[in-house]
Amino acid sequence: MSSKFTIEEVSRHNVKNDCWIIVGDDVLDCTKWLSDHPGGGKTILQYAGKDATKQFNLLHEPGTIESAAPWVKIGKLVKGGSSSAPESSSPSSQQSFQTREQMMGRYSNSSEVPSPIKVDFSQPNNPISLLPIQPTHASETPSRNSGGTAAILPAARKLASFDVNEMISLIDGGPKKTKNRRFIESPTADFDFFDKIYWSTPEILREHVRLYLKIHESYWNTYRPTREEVAWMTRVTINKGSMMNHYGLFLPTLLTRASPRQVMEFLIRTLQMKIIGVYAQTELGHGSNVRGLQTTAHYDKKTEEFILNTPTLSSMKWWPGTLGKVGTHAVVYAQLILEGKEYGIHEFILQIRDSNHRPFPGIELGDLGPKLGDNANDTGFMRLENVRIPRDRMLSRYQQVSPDGKYMKSAGKANPRTHYMTMMIARGSMMRGAGDQLARAATVATRYSEVRKQGFTDSTQGISYKSKEKTILDHQIQAFRIFRQISRSYAFIFAGIWMSSKFGEWDKGDSNLASMKELASTSNGLKAMCTVMALEGIEDCRKCCGGNGYLMASGVATQAADYAWQCTAEGDFVILFLQTARYLIQRVRDIKKGDKVVGHFAYLNAIGEPGFSSQTAKIVEAKSADDFLDLDFLAELYRIRALSSLGAVSDDFEGLIAKGQTWDIAFNSCAVQLLEATKYHCMSFLVELFRGTVSEVKGGPCKEVLQKVGAFFAVSHLLDSNWAGVLDFQGMRFAQSASSILLTQLRNDAVPLVDAFDFPDRVLSSAIGRYDGNIYEALFESAKKSELNQMDPFLGYEDVLRPYLDLEFLKAGNAKRYPEPKTSKFGPSKL
Ligand SMILES: Cc1cc2nc3c(=O)[nH]c(=O)nc-3n(C[C@H](O)[C@H](O)[C@H](O)COP(=O)(O)OP(=O)(O)OC[C@H]3O[C@@H](n4cnc5c(N)ncnc54)[C@H](O)[C@@H]3O)c2cc1C
Repeated sequence: MSSKFTIEEVSRHNVKNDCWIIVGDDVLDCTKWLSDHPGGGKTILQYAGKDATKQFNLLHEPGTIESAAPWVKIGKLVKGGSSSAPESSSPSSQQSFQTREQMMGRYSNSSEVPSPIKVDFSQPNNPISLLPIQPTHASETPSRNSGGTAAILPAARKLASFDVNEMISLIDGGPKKTKNRRFIESPTADFDFFDKIYWSTPEILREHVRLYLKIHESYWNTYRPTREEVAWMTRVTINKGSMMNHYGLFLPTLLTRASPRQVMEFLIRTLQMKIIGVYAQTELGHGSNVRGLQTTAHYDKKTEEFILNTPTLSSMKWWPGTLGKVGTHAVVYAQLILEGKEYGIHEFILQIRDSNHRPFPGIELGDLGPKLGDNANDTGFMRLENVRIPRDRMLSRYQQVSPDGKYMKSAGKANPRTHYMTMMIARGSMMRGAGDQLARAATVATRYSEVRKQGFTDSTQGISYKSKEKTILDHQIQAFRIFRQISRSYAFIFAGIWMSSKFGEWDKGDSNLASMKELASTSNGLKAMCTVMALEGIEDCRKCCGGNGYLMASGVATQAADYAWQCTAEGDFVILFLQTARYLIQRVRDIKKGDKVVGHFAYLNAIGEPGFSSQTAKIVEAKSADDFLDLDFLAELYRIRALSSLGAVSDDFEGLIAKGQTWDIAFNSCAVQLLEATKYHCMSFLVELFRGTVSEVKGGPCKEVLQKVGAFFAVSHLLDSNWAGVLDFQGMRFAQSASSILLTQLRNDAVPLVDAFDFPDRVLSSAIGRYDGNIYEALFESAKKSELNQMDPFLGYEDVLRPYLDLEFLKAGNAKRYPEPKTSKFGPSKL
C-alpha cells in the first residue's frame, strides 16, 4: 500500500457511497465497512472526508483496524496539504463523538451549566437546599418556630484559618477540575434525595437508574469519562452500588479482555448506555475462590457455539449487581471445556434480556431480596440451562477457540501491565470512594456537633436550665472522634488520588513492572484497610449524632449499612489483606537472602541489615510531644512499626518452614499475625502518602492545616494500637499530649475542613448536616412528612386497640376530672 493522499483529496470522499476518513496518518476507505461497523455506520459517516483521529482513539484500542478490517487502509496522508477537511467539531447527531474539551468548552467561559438548573459555582458548597426552610429568626434566640441555630455555622466559618475554596481546588487538583466536577454533578440538582427515606425498594431502584442515566445522557453520549469523572459521578448518586458495575466492572473487563473486534461491537453501546453491563463472577457456592467456580461453557463444534450451564444449585450466579432487573448483557465467568478437557476460567459475553427486557429461554433471573443496605442495587441470581452463544462471544483478546474446537493463544500476549492496571483501577476507585463516603458522614457529624449544645459550660455553678451550654464539639472526646474521621477522610481521598495519578503515569508507560507489581499488591491491602476503616468511621459519625443520628432524616442512619458491602465485594477484606501479606512475606524472604527492594518498599531492606532484631526493631526515643506534630517523624515511626511486625512474623514463618512445614501450612499458621503486620504496612503507606501530599502543597494556610490533619490522622490511630517495642511509656504519653495539642489547634477549622469536601445539601440528604445549620426546623419538617402523620387515628386503631381501651375514662379528658368513687372495697375515700 503505497498511495498517498492530501487532505483535499480525502475531503472529496464524503458521502455514504464514497466514504473516506483519516485516522493518524492512515487514509481509510470505509465505504464497504459502513454496514459492518459494529458501532453502526452513522458513527463513521459523520467523519466522511474528515480527520477522525481523536474520536477514534477515544473509543478504540491500538490494533483495532489491523485486526477488524485491515483492508480499509488505502494509503497514507501527505502532510502539509491545506486543511480543507478540518477536524469535525461535535456533530449534532445522536451518535456524535465529543472530546472532553469540546464538552467543557461550551461552558468554559462562564459559570453557566446546562439544564436542569443553574448552580452557583462561586459558593463553597452550592446551597441548593432540599428543604425550603427559612428560619424566622437568624439569631441565637429560639422560639416556637425557630431552633435559634441559624447564626452558628456562619460564625464558625468566620474562624477558619484557611480559604475553603482554595482547599476545595486543592482536593480536586485545581480550580479547573473543581469546575469540571461540579459540572458533572449538576444533573443531580433536580433530584430530591431527601424524600428517598419514604420510597419503596422499586421506587429507589427506578429513581437511581433515572439519575444515573441522566448524569450520562446530558453530557456524555459517546464520550468516555475518565476514572476521576466516574468517581465524581458516584459521589453524588443515591446509593453506590447500582449501575456502577456497568462502569466499574463490565467496561474495564471489556477493555482489557475483549478482542478489538469485540470492543468495537460493545464499547460505544456501553458508553451510551444502549446496553447495560453486568459482571457475573460470584456463585452461590463460591466467591473468594474464583478457580473453584462451577459454571461451565462446553464447545459444540457442529454449531460453533458455546453451551453455558450452571449445573447445580450452588453454581448459579449469585450477587452480581444490576443482574436482578436492569442489566441486558453479562460477562459470565465459566470453566471452558473443549471435548471433555478443562481449560480453566474464561469470560463470555451473554445477552441476558431481549428487546422487551425479558430473559431469554434457558436463563432464569431474579433479585436476591432485601439486603442490609444499598437497595438501589438489584443484586441478582442467574441460572443457565443449555444457553447457546456464538463462538465469538468468548472474550478473546488473549485466547480463542477455533471453529473446529482447538484452544489457541492469540498473538498478543497477556500484558502484565494491563493486569496490574485493571486491578489497581478497581482498588484505587474504592479507596477514593471510602474517603468520599466517610467525608459525607463526617460533614454531617461535624456540622451537627458544632450546632448541637449539650452540657453546662460550668457545672460547678448552681445550674438553671437557662445557663450557658457547651457545643458538643467542645467535649474533648467528641472532638477526638470527629477529627479522627475528618482526618481519615482526607487520608483516603489523597490515597485514592495518588493511585489515580499512578495510573496516569503508567498509561504513559512511565513505570517498571516491578514497581507496578509492588503497588498492585499493596493496593489490595489498602482497599481492605480504607473500606473497613471507612465503615467503622461512618458508623461512629452516626453515633456522634446521638439519637438524631438514628433518624433516617439524619442522612447517616443507614449510610453504614449502604456502604458495608464495599468491605466484601471486589474481594473480601481478609482475602485482600492476605494477598498483600503473601507478597510481603515473600519480599522479606528475598531480602533476608540478600536482595534489595527499591521504591516505596525500600524501608523493608532494614530487615536484611546486620543486627536487625525482630523483637525490637528500634525503640524510638521521642523527646517531646512536638515530635508527634511532625509528619516526617510520624512517617518514620510507622515504618519502624511495620518493620517490627513484619520482622517478627517473618521469623515465625521461617521457623515453621525450617521445621518442614509447607508454605501454605506455615502461612495459614501465621495468618492472624500476618494480617496485623500487613495492616501496619498499609497504615505506614497511608501516612507516607499524606506526608508526600502535604509536602507538594505550596506554603500557606492550607498547607499548615493539612500538616496538622495529617499528624492527627497518624497520632489518633497510634493511640488505638499496640506500639510495644517501638515506643516506650513516655513516648506514648507524648503522643497523647500531641493529640490534645492538635485538637486545640484544629478546633476552629472543623466546619471549614468538612465544607471543603463540597457536598451539596441535596446529596447529604440530611436534616442535621445542612449547610445553614437550621437543624431543628429541618428535623420537625421531616417528622411532619412521616407516613404515620398522614392519617389519624392510625391503621388498626378500630379493630386492634380500641376494644382494649377504657373509653369512659378517656372521655373525661384533661379538663374534667373523672369522678372519684365515694366508697370502694377498701372503705370510704380519704382524698
Ligand atoms: C452488595 C454486593 C455486591 C456484589 N457485586 C458483585 C458483582 O457485581 N459481581 C460478582 O461477581 N460478585 C459480586 N459480589 C460478590 C462478592 O465479590 C463476594 O461476596 C466476595 O468475593 C466474597 O465471596 P463470598 O461471599 O463467597 O465469601 P466467602 O469466600 O465464602 O467468604 C466467607 C468468609 O470466609 C473467609 N475466607 C474465605 N476464603 C478464605 C481464605 N482463603 N483464607 C481466609 N479466610 C477465608 C472470608 O474472609 C469470609 O470471612 C457482590 C457482593 C455484595 C455483598
